[in-house]
Amino acid sequence: MDGITLALSKGRIFEETLPLLAAAGIVPQENPETSRKLIIGTNRPDVRLVIVRATDTPTYVQWGAADLGIAGKDVLLEHGGAGLYVPLDLKIARCRLCVAVPEGFDYAAATRPGSRIRVATKYIATARQHFAAKGVHVDLIKLYGSMELAPLVGLADAIVDLVSSGGTLRANQLAEVEEIMPISSRLIVNQAALKLKRDRLQPVIDAFAGALQA
Ligand code: ATP
Ligand code: MG
Repeated sequence: MDGITLALSKGRIFEETLPLLAAAGIVPQENPETSRKLIIGTNRPDVRLVIVRATDTPTYVQWGAADLGIAGKDVLLEHGGAGLYVPLDLKIARCRLCVAVPEGFDYAAATRPGSRIRVATKYIATARQHFAAKGVHVDLIKLYGSMELAPLVGLADAIVDLVSSGGTLRANQLAEVEEIMPISSRLIVNQAALKLKRDRLQPVIDAFAGALQA
Protein backbone atom coordinates (compact mmCIF):
# COMPACT_ATOMS: atom_id res chain seq x y z
CA MET A 1 0.00 0.00 0.00
CA ASP A 2 1.24 3.43 -0.96
CA GLY A 3 -0.51 5.24 1.89
CA ILE A 4 0.05 4.66 5.58
CA THR A 5 -1.67 2.31 8.01
CA LEU A 6 -1.85 2.99 11.75
CA ALA A 7 -2.72 0.15 14.17
CA LEU A 8 -4.79 1.15 17.20
CA SER A 9 -6.69 -0.73 19.88
CA LYS A 10 -10.18 0.23 21.00
CA GLY A 11 -10.88 1.76 24.38
CA ARG A 12 -8.59 4.14 26.19
CA ILE A 13 -5.77 4.06 23.66
CA PHE A 14 -8.13 4.98 20.80
CA GLU A 15 -9.81 7.76 22.79
CA GLU A 16 -6.56 9.27 24.04
CA THR A 17 -5.03 9.06 20.56
CA LEU A 18 -7.79 11.10 18.89
CA PRO A 19 -6.30 14.48 19.92
CA LEU A 20 -2.87 13.41 18.64
CA LEU A 21 -4.37 12.32 15.33
CA ALA A 22 -6.19 15.65 15.10
CA ALA A 23 -2.88 17.44 15.58
CA ALA A 24 -1.56 15.47 12.59
CA GLY A 25 -4.64 16.48 10.57
CA ILE A 26 -6.12 12.97 10.74
CA VAL A 27 -9.79 12.45 11.60
CA PRO A 28 -11.25 8.90 11.61
CA GLN A 29 -14.37 8.43 9.51
CA GLU A 30 -15.97 6.05 12.01
CA ASN A 31 -15.88 5.31 15.71
CA PRO A 32 -14.50 1.79 16.29
CA GLU A 33 -16.47 1.54 19.54
CA THR A 34 -19.72 1.49 17.57
CA SER A 35 -18.61 0.39 14.13
CA ARG A 36 -17.85 -3.27 13.48
CA LYS A 37 -15.37 -2.37 10.78
CA LEU A 38 -11.76 -3.27 11.46
CA ILE A 39 -10.33 -1.01 8.75
CA ILE A 40 -11.39 2.59 9.22
CA GLY A 41 -10.75 5.34 6.72
CA THR A 42 -9.83 8.88 7.65
CA ASN A 43 -10.33 12.33 6.18
CA ARG A 44 -6.98 11.77 4.48
CA PRO A 45 -7.20 9.38 1.54
CA ASP A 46 -3.62 8.22 2.21
CA VAL A 47 -4.17 7.30 5.89
CA ARG A 48 -6.17 4.39 7.29
CA LEU A 49 -6.56 2.87 10.74
CA VAL A 50 -6.67 -0.82 11.57
CA ILE A 51 -8.34 -1.81 14.83
CA VAL A 52 -6.48 -4.59 16.66
CA ARG A 53 -6.36 -6.20 20.08
CA ALA A 54 -3.97 -4.20 22.32
CA THR A 55 -1.56 -7.10 22.71
CA ASP A 56 -1.45 -7.62 18.93
CA THR A 57 -0.37 -4.07 18.02
CA PRO A 58 3.41 -4.76 17.98
CA THR A 59 2.85 -7.85 15.84
CA TYR A 60 1.05 -5.90 13.10
CA VAL A 61 3.75 -3.22 13.07
CA GLN A 62 6.66 -5.65 13.26
CA TRP A 63 5.41 -7.53 10.20
CA GLY A 64 4.67 -4.31 8.31
CA ALA A 65 0.92 -4.93 8.12
CA ALA A 66 0.75 -1.53 9.80
CA ASP A 67 3.40 1.16 9.39
CA LEU A 68 2.73 2.72 12.77
CA GLY A 69 0.98 1.71 15.95
CA ILE A 70 0.31 2.79 19.50
CA ALA A 71 1.04 0.25 22.21
CA GLY A 72 1.41 0.23 25.99
CA LYS A 73 4.89 -0.19 27.40
CA ASP A 74 3.53 -3.26 29.18
CA VAL A 75 2.67 -4.84 25.83
CA LEU A 76 6.00 -3.82 24.26
CA LEU A 77 8.07 -5.27 27.10
CA GLU A 78 6.24 -8.55 26.89
CA HIS A 79 6.44 -8.70 23.10
CA GLY A 80 10.03 -7.54 22.61
CA GLY A 81 11.13 -4.79 20.28
CA ALA A 82 12.58 -6.56 17.22
CA GLY A 83 11.94 -4.60 14.02
CA LEU A 84 10.33 -1.75 15.88
CA TYR A 85 11.42 1.85 16.18
CA VAL A 86 9.93 3.51 19.29
CA PRO A 87 10.37 7.25 18.77
CA LEU A 88 7.87 8.70 21.25
CA ASP A 89 6.42 8.22 24.70
CA LEU A 90 2.91 9.56 24.08
CA LYS A 91 2.20 9.76 27.84
CA ILE A 92 -1.33 8.42 27.33
CA ALA A 93 -3.08 5.42 28.95
CA ARG A 94 -0.88 5.91 32.00
CA CYS A 95 -0.87 3.40 34.82
CA ARG A 96 1.69 1.25 36.61
CA LEU A 97 2.68 -2.39 36.53
CA CYS A 98 2.50 -3.72 40.08
CA VAL A 99 2.67 -6.72 42.33
CA ALA A 100 -0.46 -7.08 44.46
CA VAL A 101 -1.32 -9.57 47.20
CA PRO A 102 -4.28 -10.21 49.52
CA GLU A 103 -4.46 -7.68 52.38
CA GLY A 104 -2.49 -9.11 55.28
CA PHE A 105 -0.28 -11.40 53.16
CA ASP A 106 3.35 -11.13 54.27
CA TYR A 107 4.99 -10.27 50.94
CA ALA A 108 8.37 -9.48 52.52
CA ALA A 109 8.53 -12.97 54.01
CA ALA A 110 7.33 -14.58 50.77
CA THR A 111 10.06 -12.86 48.74
CA ARG A 112 13.12 -13.40 50.93
CA PRO A 113 16.01 -14.53 48.73
CA GLY A 114 15.70 -18.23 48.02
CA SER A 115 11.97 -18.40 48.74
CA ARG A 116 9.32 -19.45 46.22
CA ILE A 117 6.16 -17.55 45.28
CA ARG A 118 3.28 -18.36 42.93
CA VAL A 119 2.26 -15.45 40.72
CA ALA A 120 -0.62 -15.15 38.26
CA THR A 121 -0.28 -12.67 35.41
CA LYS A 122 -0.64 -12.03 31.73
CA TYR A 123 2.88 -10.51 31.82
CA ILE A 124 4.88 -13.73 32.08
CA ALA A 125 8.19 -12.46 30.64
CA THR A 126 8.17 -9.21 32.60
CA ALA A 127 7.21 -10.93 35.85
CA ARG A 128 9.87 -13.62 35.37
CA GLN A 129 12.53 -10.96 34.94
CA HIS A 130 11.30 -8.95 37.92
CA PHE A 131 11.44 -11.87 40.35
CA ALA A 132 14.71 -13.20 38.94
CA ALA A 133 16.31 -9.80 39.63
CA LYS A 134 15.15 -10.10 43.25
CA GLY A 135 16.53 -13.62 43.56
CA VAL A 136 13.06 -15.03 44.24
CA HIS A 137 11.95 -18.33 42.70
CA VAL A 138 8.63 -17.89 40.98
CA ASP A 139 5.98 -20.23 39.62
CA LEU A 140 4.17 -18.23 36.95
CA ILE A 141 0.58 -18.91 35.99
CA LYS A 142 -0.56 -17.36 32.71
CA LEU A 143 -3.96 -15.67 32.77
CA TYR A 144 -5.68 -13.54 30.13
CA GLY A 145 -7.81 -11.35 32.39
CA SER A 146 -9.42 -10.85 35.82
CA MET A 147 -6.05 -11.46 37.48
CA GLU A 148 -7.48 -10.12 40.76
CA LEU A 149 -9.47 -13.30 41.21
CA ALA A 150 -6.46 -15.62 41.33
CA PRO A 151 -5.25 -14.95 44.91
CA LEU A 152 -8.82 -14.94 46.22
CA VAL A 153 -9.43 -18.54 45.18
CA GLY A 154 -5.98 -19.95 45.95
CA LEU A 155 -4.68 -20.04 42.38
CA ALA A 156 -1.72 -17.78 43.25
CA ASP A 157 -0.10 -15.91 46.14
CA ALA A 158 0.26 -12.70 44.17
CA ILE A 159 -0.56 -11.07 40.85
CA VAL A 160 1.38 -8.84 38.49
CA ASP A 161 -1.08 -6.49 36.82
CA LEU A 162 -1.72 -2.92 35.73
CA VAL A 163 -3.14 -0.53 38.31
CA SER A 164 -4.38 3.00 37.85
CA SER A 165 -6.75 4.10 40.61
CA GLY A 166 -6.39 0.95 42.69
CA GLY A 167 -10.18 0.64 42.89
CA THR A 168 -10.31 -2.91 41.54
CA LEU A 169 -7.64 -4.05 43.98
CA ARG A 170 -9.47 -2.50 46.94
CA ALA A 171 -12.80 -3.97 45.85
CA ASN A 172 -11.17 -7.40 46.03
CA GLN A 173 -9.23 -6.89 49.31
CA LEU A 174 -5.89 -6.79 47.52
CA ALA A 175 -3.03 -4.41 48.23
CA GLU A 176 -0.27 -3.11 45.96
CA VAL A 177 3.07 -4.17 47.48
CA GLU A 178 5.56 -3.30 44.76
CA GLU A 179 5.65 -1.11 41.67
CA ILE A 180 7.54 -2.79 38.85
CA MET A 181 7.41 0.21 36.52
CA PRO A 182 5.30 3.14 35.35
CA ILE A 183 3.44 2.46 32.09
CA SER A 184 2.33 4.70 29.24
CA SER A 185 1.69 4.17 25.55
CA ARG A 186 4.40 4.50 22.91
CA LEU A 187 4.34 5.28 19.21
CA ILE A 188 5.90 2.35 17.37
CA VAL A 189 7.05 2.40 13.77
CA ASN A 190 8.06 -0.38 11.38
CA GLN A 191 11.76 0.22 10.71
CA ALA A 192 11.65 -0.74 7.02
CA ALA A 193 8.54 1.39 6.42
CA LEU A 194 10.29 4.36 7.99
CA LYS A 195 13.02 4.10 5.37
CA LEU A 196 10.71 3.49 2.41
CA LYS A 197 7.94 5.94 3.35
CA ARG A 198 9.77 8.52 5.41
CA ASP A 199 8.15 11.37 3.46
CA ARG A 200 4.73 10.27 4.71
CA LEU A 201 5.61 8.89 8.14
CA GLN A 202 7.96 11.57 9.47
CA PRO A 203 5.31 14.35 9.34
CA VAL A 204 2.95 12.18 11.40
CA ILE A 205 5.69 11.46 13.96
CA ASP A 206 6.59 15.16 14.07
CA ALA A 207 2.94 16.19 14.50
CA PHE A 208 2.55 13.78 17.43
CA ALA A 209 5.75 15.12 18.97
CA GLY A 210 4.51 18.69 18.52
CA ALA A 211 1.15 17.85 20.13
CA LEU A 212 3.01 16.42 23.14
CA GLN A 213 4.96 19.67 23.57
CA ALA A 214 1.76 21.76 23.51
P1 ATP B 1 -9.14 -6.37 27.28
O1 ATP B 1 -9.31 -5.43 28.44
O2 ATP B 1 -10.21 -6.28 26.25
O3 ATP B 1 -8.78 -7.75 27.71
P2 ATP B 1 -6.56 -5.36 27.02
O4 ATP B 1 -6.45 -5.53 28.50
O5 ATP B 1 -5.51 -5.94 26.13
O6 ATP B 1 -7.89 -5.88 26.46
P3 ATP B 1 -7.00 -2.57 27.57
O7 ATP B 1 -7.53 -2.93 28.90
O8 ATP B 1 -7.77 -1.63 26.72
O9 ATP B 1 -6.68 -3.83 26.67
O10 ATP B 1 -5.55 -1.99 27.79
C1 ATP B 1 -4.80 -1.54 26.70
C2 ATP B 1 -3.59 -0.83 27.21
O11 ATP B 1 -3.99 0.30 27.97
C3 ATP B 1 -2.73 -1.66 28.14
O12 ATP B 1 -1.79 -2.42 27.42
C4 ATP B 1 -2.07 -0.60 29.00
O13 ATP B 1 -0.92 -0.08 28.36
C5 ATP B 1 -3.15 0.45 29.09
N1 ATP B 1 -3.97 0.27 30.30
C6 ATP B 1 -4.52 -0.87 30.76
N2 ATP B 1 -5.19 -0.69 31.89
C7 ATP B 1 -5.06 0.61 32.18
C8 ATP B 1 -5.54 1.44 33.23
N3 ATP B 1 -6.26 0.95 34.25
N4 ATP B 1 -5.27 2.76 33.19
C9 ATP B 1 -4.55 3.26 32.19
N5 ATP B 1 -4.06 2.53 31.17
C10 ATP B 1 -4.29 1.23 31.16
MG1 MG C 1 -7.96 -4.70 30.00
